[in-house]
Amino acid sequence: SAADQAFVTLATTEDYCMGALVMGKSLRRHGTTRKIVVLISSSVSPEARHSLERVFDEVVQVDVMDSMDRTHLSWLGRPELGVTLTKLQCWMLIKYKKCVFLDADTLVLQNVDDLFEREELSAAPDAGWPDCFNSGVFVFRPSLHTHSRLLAHAAHYGCFDGGDQGLLNSFFKDWAVKDISKHLPFVYNLSSIQSKFGHQAKIVHFLGAVKPWHLRYDQSNKDSYLDQFLNMWWAEYRSQMPPISG
Ligand code: UDP
Ligand code: MN
Repeated sequence: SAADQAFVTLATTEDYCMGALVMGKSLRRHGTTRKIVVLISSSVSPEARHSLERVFDEVVQVDVMDSMDRTHLSWLGRPELGVTLTKLQCWMLIKYKKCVFLDADTLVLQNVDDLFEREELSAAPDAGWPDCFNSGVFVFRPSLHTHSRLLAHAAHYGCFDGGDQGLLNSFFKDWAVKDISKHLPFVYNLSSIQSKFGHQAKIVHFLGAVKPWHLRYDQSNKDSYLDQFLNMWWAEYRSQMPPISG
């Protein structure tokens, strides 16, 4: 049922909180009937937390490294793993049966509640490496068992070059070949720099080092889909809170 399903995102810094806020507002604007949850770290300011509380049904503080240190000492001194491992905390949200994770640098352009018809682990192909899924948008089932298996996998995985995307692809390694219903259409995770299907986009993903919050809002730039998506992001950032329909 809709009551035990949620969209989930993650924001460990003030910047990513801006992104999460916009993503959450865009979900509301398109009338989602599901809960919206954001995972934050203790370093997020009370002001940013308060803004998130006005948009999200739940703001959940998670440990970035501390809880991992005791059981996985080998990770000490590798703070860059913190965010990767923190993303895995979404599997601990067991009050929900099914969830859709959305990166904080995504913007929802249409209602995407139909994603809940999919099963774990559903995701769209990565534009640069289509045999892998992009981990900015994925359907999953919270489970403490899966969570601990993921952590154990992370401990043995070794190479973290791909961050959470590399880790998740190596865990859900039959994604590419096993079940085509777990391949989301590209328009559910459209890279902001791709224009071919821009007009059909359902979710835009501002992946890469430069995020919308790093760039200026410029109404005169309307040429490319990237400019249009950027303007939409800033318009959502400045918009009033959309009504809650869930
Ligand atoms: N994230 C975060 N804090 C960070 C880096 C990342 O909370 O310092 C979260 C945020 O939800 C972000 C996701 O992890 O959208 C993945 O990182 P990012 O989107 O920067 O990676 P990309 O999509 O560019 O590969
Ligand atoms: Mn991203």
